[in-house]
Amino acid sequence: MLAADHAARLGDAASRLAAVGGSALVIAPSPDLRYLIGYEPMPLERPTVLVVDAEGAVVLIVPALERPLAAETGAAELFEIVGWRDDEDPYALIASRLGGGGTVFVGDRIWGSHVLSLQRTMPGAAWTSATPIVGAMRARKDEAELGALRRAAAAADAALADLVAEPIGGRTERAVAAMLAELLVAHGHDTAEFTIVASGPNAASPHHEPTDRRIGAGDAIVLDFGGTIDGYYSDTTRTLVVGAAGKQLVAVHAVVAEAQRAATDAVRPGVEMWTIDRAARTVIDDAGYGDRFIHRTGHGIGLELHEPPYAAAGDHTVLEPGMAFSVEPGIYLEGKLGVRIEDIVAVTETGVEPLNTSPRALVVLD
Ligand code: ZN
Ligand code: ZN
Ligand code: ZN
Repeated sequence: MLAADHAARLGDAASRLAAVGGSALVIAPSPDLRYLIGYEPMPLERPTVLVVDAEGAVVLIVPALERPLAAETGAAELFEIVGWRDDEDPYALIASRLGGGGTVFVGDRIWGSHVLSLQRTMPGAAWTSATPIVGAMRARKDEAELGALRRAAAAADAALADLVAEPIGGRTERAVAAMLAELLVAHGHDTAEFTIVASGPNAASPHHEPTDRRIGAGDAIVLDFGGTIDGYYSDTTRTLVVGAAGKQLVAVHAVVAEAQRAATDAVRPGVEMWTIDRAARTVIDDAGYGDRFIHRTGHGIGLELHEPPYAAAGDHTVLEPGMAFSVEPGIYLEGKLGVRIEDIVAVTETGVEPLNTSPRALVVLD
């Protein structure tokens, strides 16, 4: 686990909560909880919640049997740990720590059963999402977090460099995905989390699951893969072709590469997130493929693969140094081919730092 100043994060969360007039934050086992206190038990039907109030009081309420586990957390001296036994009502206990009312800010990743029980126990409270508080904090990475993202990106780039040195033509998507997963770990990932290998017509499906299809000459191959190092994700995409590339693939790839460059060039502090999407979309619209660019341009990345902010129409997050997100335009021609190019980028004091540095040209393999 990365060294993190959990006391500062808890203090920041409490003052943000006070600034919006909230009464308490309720965070269940999730990346938010890991971020705030470094504790990451399994989310289960027995509720575990961190409660932070606007005055900065912090209590971790846990099933009594997990009290020893919680006490081992490095940050355990920062909060009171209260255990509840199976013959007690945990929701009444949690409610007693929530002050009975006001506006409660709840983390996005909490089971519906827990929220519904809390709402039944506290009919007078108002409930809203904690993402404007904790999500906003997590969006701006500190140096240690940026370091982990850089290491993850470099390891993913190294995995790709090794992969393209292997013969890929004639192998199945599934076999190539397995090779890629092994290489991600060999280059330092703690785990390989996903390896999309989408060839030929399958490349037109952005979240394709690898199949037993054998990769043939002239196929576009979209490789989109990543894993975690110290909890932080890599996520990169390159498009390859085995043998000679057809005219259409070359043309589409050039448009996507130009869109990816334009969007990356638009990244700097002070601009709004939607403008990054606009920059990519303008290039693809102008080339006549606007309706074939069927997803947003990017997503924040950190302890989660997809987290705020989003490079999409309507996201008015103002970019700040330390934010990290993907830039991944694509064009998908159903039944034929698909092309996507994806890098993780970080916002610097003056502009942008692409964390992935693999060549972005169409990779032609023999
Ligand atoms: Zn995706
Ligand atoms: Zn990806
Ligand atoms: Zn992505």
